[in-house]
Amino acid sequence: MSRLTGQMMQMPLLISSLAVHAARHAADTEIVSKRCEGDIHRTTWQALELRSRKLAQALARLGCEPGDRVATLAWNGYRHLEIYYGSSGSGLVCHTINPRLFPEQIAWIANDAQDKVLCFDLNFLPLVEKLAPQLSQVKHFVLMTDRAHMPPSSSIPRLACYDELVEAEDGAYAWPQFDENTASSICYTSGTTGHPKGAVYSHRSTLLHAFAAALPDSMGCSAADAILPVVPMFHVNAWGLPYAGALVGAKLVLPGPHLDGKSLYELFETEQVTFSAGVPTVWLGLLNYVKQNGLKFSSFRRTVIGGSACPPSMMRALEEEHGVEVIHAWGMTEMSPLGTLSKLKAKHVGLEDAARRQLLETQGRVVYGVDMLIVGNDGRPLPWDGHTSGDLLVRGPWVIENYFGQKTGDPRESPLVEIDGQSWFPTGDVATINPDGFMQITDRSKDVIKSGGEWISSIELENVAMGHPGVHEAAVIACAHPKWDERPLLVVVRKPGVVLDAKEMLGWFEGRIAKWQIPDDVAFVDEIPHTATGKMLKLKLREKFKDHKLPTA
Ligand code: ADP
Repeated sequence: MSRLTGQMMQMPLLISSLAVHAARHAADTEIVSKRCEGDIHRTTWQALELRSRKLAQALARLGCEPGDRVATLAWNGYRHLEIYYGSSGSGLVCHTINPRLFPEQIAWIANDAQDKVLCFDLNFLPLVEKLAPQLSQVKHFVLMTDRAHMPPSSSIPRLACYDELVEAEDGAYAWPQFDENTASSICYTSGTTGHPKGAVYSHRSTLLHAFAAALPDSMGCSAADAILPVVPMFHVNAWGLPYAGALVGAKLVLPGPHLDGKSLYELFETEQVTFSAGVPTVWLGLLNYVKQNGLKFSSFRRTVIGGSACPPSMMRALEEEHGVEVIHAWGMTEMSPLGTLSKLKAKHVGLEDAARRQLLETQGRVVYGVDMLIVGNDGRPLPWDGHTSGDLLVRGPWVIENYFGQKTGDPRESPLVEIDGQSWFPTGDVATINPDGFMQITDRSKDVIKSGGEWISSIELENVAMGHPGVHEAAVIACAHPKWDERPLLVVVRKPGVVLDAKEMLGWFEGRIAKWQIPDDVAFVDEIPHTATGKMLKLKLREKFKDHKLPTA
């Protein structure tokens, strides 16, 4: 018996279609950027799509061919967005590089990806001048500015002016149609887990992810939103917002390099931002500024916080003091990045406050397109009872099958594991899942504290510590112990001017957590080191405290 074929139009899911859609149906909706040059720039989706086409023409004129990598070292801004659409849309691959990485890492990543063109913001000129001799594959260096801001001279060979390249073209260009499985962009993992590895997204995965990101139980984006992604466009494509924003035709507000509390607050207010997204550390700065100056948000309604665990105290401050709904989200570079978001089901709406909060503080439920499992040491699935924890595995059309440069289909190179005939990607996270599917990350597998055979969640202890009014930031790491193998050490940065000693800090845990899980010691530090994407660098902390003697040892 032969199956009946569906009789619908065959239209590949291509990134260019998002720009075309926004240009036609959100033509005059604004994209507002705070530029590196310091001023505010305003454009529209219609104008942006035209400039993206001109950029595609310019890249072809430079000799780019399908599959060539166009790299960026850039903040969130309209030119960066044009590169997203102009490169991917024309069959090239957009490679966003995190400029906060060490210069050697940037060079390593650019060479590994074989970047052919490197576009960069004005503030990165000194960095790129230093790096250029090491970037053996890059044929064209493009400074993302206008003629007036070009330096009179530079050590970079044939440095091109971005605006001149774009403005020299006429825009008479039709977006090419090709297979939706073609690579569209590459992001490298931030390297908290060793050498950075490239995740290669496709047009299809990016579009499916954008649909999922916009759903109401996801980020809930709409044409009525003004979206300010604080999360950089070099951090997993700003979590898909540059695509989801076009898909729904929302206004985009792009903050450039101006990420301090004052600049962000002003932009939120002048542009009447309704929705934002970022890692917990950026909200620390913004909330401090708002509090110190007795300010309120007039339009800000909801925000996604993810990338690392959002402390419940931060969630409460945003909700209770500012009426901002916090959507706690979890994902990773290998997942484009969205995996789960904390949104309630109908049956939870009437719950009393404490029970409702408990659910909202988890990393949430999967969005359609991602499936998940937790497994034990034997690789067998564990129950979803809300307290059994195990290694978290995922699968789905926007989860990687392989890293850049590794051969698909070769089991020796595959990062995937087989369970009951299905392939799963091991996330490296440890989690519980409750019967309603709310997943809670308790740790990264290498950060978990193994005390006398029992696991202690560093995130749970950090959340308790962060609830103390004198704590600015807290990290918990494992410290060697002769009897228990490992015991938790709490590392704390106090708020300025606060008097807080170890006795009071540890006393804070009494009654808030099981007695045997209370950290054995506290170390006060001036600063906790962060990765280039704003996560606490526990590797560095473990090195720093590797000889620390616990009072209980
Ligand atoms: P890297 O893996 O290089 O640090 P990613 O940005 O891909 O870079 O990080 C993904 C990891 O970040 C996840 O595997 C998880 O450990 C952590 N993470 C992301 N979101 C959350 C969250 N909401 N709560 C706890 N951990 C999170």
